[in-house]
Amino acid sequence: MSSSESRLVDETIRRALSTGRAIIPAVSEDMGNPPWRGADGRVLVLRLSSLRDVEGSTSHLVIFSEVRQALPAAYIDFAFFPSSRDRAALSDRGLPFFFGLESGRPPEDFDLILVSNAFALELVNLSYLFELSPIASRASGRASGRASGCASGRASDRAARAPIVILGGSNAAAAGALLLPGDGLEEEGDCLVDGIFFGEGEHAIGELAYILTRQDRPRAERLAEAASVEGFWAARSGKTASRRVARPRPPNLLSYPVLNAEGALTAKLQISSGCQGYCSFCLEGWESRPYREFPAAELLEEARELKAASGASALEVFSFNFNAHSEIFALVFGLSRLFTRVSLMSQRLELLARSPTLLQAELAVGKRSFTLGIEGLSARMRRYYRKGLSEDEIEAAMGALASDSVREIKLFYIISGLEGEQDLAEFSVFAHAAAERRRSRSPGQRILVSAGYLARLPFTPLQYAPLCLDRERLEGIADRTHLACEAAGLEFRLASDFEDYYVDQLLSLGGRTLGPWLEACAREGRAYDSSLSRGAARSLEAFASSSGLLSPEFLGEKKEDWLSPLAFVDRDEKGLRRAYELASAFAPDRDAFRPPTLPDGAWLPKLERLSAAKRGFAELLVQLSLPDSLALARPEYRSSWVMRSLLKARGGPRTDAAASIFEARDAFFSKGGALEGMADSYCGLSYYYILGPDPARLARAAQAAGWEVVDELPRLERIRAELSLERRYADQAEDSFKDWLAESRVETVETRGEAAGGGRARVFRCSRTAAKKRAFFEAELVAPSPGMGDRFHARLELGPKARLESWLGRLSAEARGSAIVRFVGYY
Ligand code: SF4
Repeated sequence: MSSSESRLVDETIRRALSTGRAIIPAVSEDMGNPPWRGADGRVLVLRLSSLRDVEGSTSHLVIFSEVRQALPAAYIDFAFFPSSRDRAALSDRGLPFFFGLESGRPPEDFDLILVSNAFALELVNLSYLFELSPIASRASGRASGRASGCASGRASDRAARAPIVILGGSNAAAAGALLLPGDGLEEEGDCLVDGIFFGEGEHAIGELAYILTRQDRPRAERLAEAASVEGFWAARSGKTASRRVARPRPPNLLSYPVLNAEGALTAKLQISSGCQGYCSFCLEGWESRPYREFPAAELLEEARELKAASGASALEVFSFNFNAHSEIFALVFGLSRLFTRVSLMSQRLELLARSPTLLQAELAVGKRSFTLGIEGLSARMRRYYRKGLSEDEIEAAMGALASDSVREIKLFYIISGLEGEQDLAEFSVFAHAAAERRRSRSPGQRILVSAGYLARLPFTPLQYAPLCLDRERLEGIADRTHLACEAAGLEFRLASDFEDYYVDQLLSLGGRTLGPWLEACAREGRAYDSSLSRGAARSLEAFASSSGLLSPEFLGEKKEDWLSPLAFVDRDEKGLRRAYELASAFAPDRDAFRPPTLPDGAWLPKLERLSAAKRGFAELLVQLSLPDSLALARPEYRSSWVMRSLLKARGGPRTDAAASIFEARDAFFSKGGALEGMADSYCGLSYYYILGPDPARLARAAQAAGWEVVDELPRLERIRAELSLERRYADQAEDSFKDWLAESRVETVETRGEAAGGGRARVFRCSRTAAKKRAFFEAELVAPSPGMGDRFHARLELGPKARLESWLGRLSAEARGSAIVRFVGYY
């Protein structure tokens, strides 16, 4: 067995891990991977955070579909940083933390690893890619075939086989700590990855994947050729790079494999890129320049396609400030005609204040929670942040939101360490006024103040600002803000603790000095999983201090000629400096945002009628059979699959289907359903309500999908189900079955005989008294035999009160992962 085969995370283990079920057979079908051996390149899309934390983000899906388009015959897989429970399970078995979720393959089996990095703290987890792995942790080592943790084998072979590791994502510009002080190549330096991609990757990722997986070219040549792709920088090349801007705009992600995760019913549509704001602290704002608005007509077409491909019933409208889109009114109406729920996320507060119609439109589509970035505790601090928000505008927005229709207001602030008595006093006055307004106009409303510490980030104007690493000072200001909230009666939350902030600040700006610290994280047991492991900040401080990083030049105000860690990426340094000088002089700010074009007077009533019509949509009941490939699907994934099947059957996005079918809801097993809690996952016979404006169209869609429209749900006196498990878990299944009956106090009589389909069976029949409990009537347990597909089978006759989950919950995670529950009849 080769060392890589011994690191294979086999299916049994994968199913027992919390992320293991993200890729069930139905998802695999959509991923469209060829057999591993015959694949034309093998690409691992890797997230540095857990699936739970990044499932609302689409960047791994964007990378997947870009690579799939460029390499139709490649094997493309996903890897996520495991949860702490999964890390323990993997460690116990000596398995790698990162592995292909579908293939179970370790990272060294791939040709190319594309890492998506959303924020600096995640970088702490990168070293787990190399820990206990034959992959060298440095670009120089991978190029020369030097291995980490591997003492034999020919270096040239290893170099040829070592995967190329590329990092991109919204934090790429602040990922300078990936660089290393050098490897005898001082003029070029070294790096933990083989290349970094800067800017918008749409269309470029596929091109890069194509070049970097070409096995007919030596590794160095592939990397050199990749450098011709705009946005790509090859490590150790000594070359510069430029940030890529997608023109005229980045395309939306419209087709992707929906993962079996909680967010399966939510899709995302980007309506603009960039931001007109240019706040002095905001990396996203400066890195995604210039502002580009996507035309509403194109977006509505794309939304149909997205709905057909994703089966989503909820849409998140994605942009830095959705209400800055000049056609937002047309978009809100058009998107509401396609999706049950349209979520409008962050918005500019002054635009909300200036347009009462906008607020009414948001309320009409069901928005009840409003998030506003005020950032500065005072007008002076907002000038420092170049936020462009006046006190009057804030008061006007808060006044407009003081309504019982608004359930919650979340206000975001940043604490820089520069705040003085005057700033805190101003905030206190604001907090009291907000609380007083709420008392008189919207007493049930929640107002939450959330504050985080300011990291001065590279490629923003504040990269030149003095750092504030004074824990006492920052926590003192946070405490005073908290007290002011408490005194007024507002809630307060500190968004990140000092230690996470400290590491974030140093990693973002410290550059190559900190590369060796990052490289050692896995070895020294440091990880980021919602927060950093304890002691990480202290360790980084000691390392930075002993490396001489914490000098007055680094901690104090930087001079005009100061170069950020990744200064080889061309940037508008003069523009950044000018903006910094204005910020540090607290100079008056400009008003950067134009309000969207207002619709005519008939528009709002039309939107309100649409929302009311959606609440009264027809529900059509259909009977269908869910295939075995959905046996381990979550409820959200099953509904998304039902929606996709209906939309596909009706001809996909280019028909009226997208506006005819809004939702699919499990009639028995969803929340409030008669069988809620009986089984978390199942396949086989099922009943779904499908919702839409016109029952006749819903019926046509159901018929086209081959499903039966039924008038009413069957009675639930008796439910027939089949449960099967891998044969090695047969004893466990029987023992836990008996325990389950005992716990439910169901008396049974056991007999033995011939099973209906062949093989030996044990039959359990409940007593007359136990039958009254309407939970369990009869079970036939059939031991594995060749005729039965080599699995343990249980044929069950249950009542509506049965909780199969309390049987399955007694199984080991591995056995539970192999269980298939299939419903075959309801009587
Ligand atoms: S308005 Fe928001 S997104 Fe735009 S630059 Fe400012 S903070 Fe960033």
